Amino acid sequence: METPTTVETNDRGEDPDSLARPRGEVTVDEIAQLCRPEIYAMKPYSSARTESGPGVHVLLDANENPYPPYPSTADVAGFNRYPDPQPAVLLDGFADLYSVARESLFLSRGADEAIDLMVRAFCAAGADGILITPPTFVMYETAAEIQGAAVRRVPLRGADFQLDLPAILAALAGDPSIKIVFLCSPNNPTSNLMHRNDVLRLCAQSFGRALVVVDELYVDYSRTPSIAAELGDHPNLVVLRSMSKEYSLAGERIGVTIAHPEVVRILLRIMAPYSLTASSVRAAAAVLSAEGLAHGRANIDRVLAERDRVALMLKRSPLVLEIFPSDANFLLVRTSDASAICRHLEQAGIRIRDRSGLVDGAVRISIGVPEENDAMLTALADYASRLR
Ligand SMILES: *Cc1c(COP(=O)(O)O)cnc(C)c1O
Repeated sequence: METPTTVETNDRGEDPDSLARPRGEVTVDEIAQLCRPEIYAMKPYSSARTESGPGVHVLLDANENPYPPYPSTADVAGFNRYPDPQPAVLLDGFADLYSVARESLFLSRGADEAIDLMVRAFCAAGADGILITPPTFVMYETAAEIQGAAVRRVPLRGADFQLDLPAILAALAGDPSIKIVFLCSPNNPTSNLMHRNDVLRLCAQSFGRALVVVDELYVDYSRTPSIAAELGDHPNLVVLRSMSKEYSLAGERIGVTIAHPEVVRILLRIMAPYSLTASSVRAAAAVLSAEGLAHGRANIDRVLAERDRVALMLKRSPLVLEIFPSDANFLLVRTSDASAICRHLEQAGIRIRDRSGLVDGAVRISIGVPEENDAMLTALADYASRLR
């Protein structure tokens, strides 16, 4: 490797291209100071189930109905009891699956709830804000609006939908009210991974200044390892995962935040007392079993094979102008007329997503089972032939 004789530094004397954090020792304060002070000072609500010890077997503390619900079968056993807020079976399962310590995990009702909790914990209404990189997932902005937090936008680069790192760093330097940078990788709707070194450089440069939340809901479709492996070097990195998109549990609402234990403790303070349902915990535990994970991984492979087939077929359509390279389980496709195509498919009973408001002429097509994809391709061909 080439060794530069002079290293350019910023006004704090730090090398702006360095991947390393500017300071060595991480203190809890460097996370805590970003949190809303009133949240940090607050005594968290302690629910009945959080307090019960291991030897307890008669539960007369939470005003539940002691009888099981209809139809009293094994399927509903335990549904009359409040669930464990952060069940050990899932914490252990995710610690294994993601190769992280249990103390770095926080479970929520989908990643959507984690996004909301992050904004509420770290952004004071009317004072603080978030930074987003459009075109991206809309929930970050929605959560900020609900909280009364400002939204600073630094668009992805037009040519390749990658981060405009100098512009993000400049925005952070010029606006101390930005507490969270939300990145999405692979990004919804553009379907590409962000360059890992850009994300790490941003973490390093914003350490002690802002949290960098990386939404990785599709990362298993990208065949690249999660950036969560870098958490040890970058304590201001927060990674969002979920069982919705990768492990077929969108209906059960299981989200996982991987973060520095201090971030996890802050989220635990403000979470709803019982955010995960008994049935969702059961479903997630089954998927996290060895057979469950093998089943899930096989389905990810099937979806990826279909994605490549669908992309090839779409390329032949006269309605398709461009298919963006995908690291996810959907395709962003630039078309001649997004709204007309969506309308035609809807009439054929097929729903895709018009994303032309975010990317010119674009529609987002999720990969279904082969029969569903064929139905979509047929309806598209039908529409193209009518236009001729
Ligand atoms: C679907 C989606 C979410 C929400 O996921 P849940 O875990 O189902 O709440 C979050 N981020 C991105 C980028 C998504 O596409």
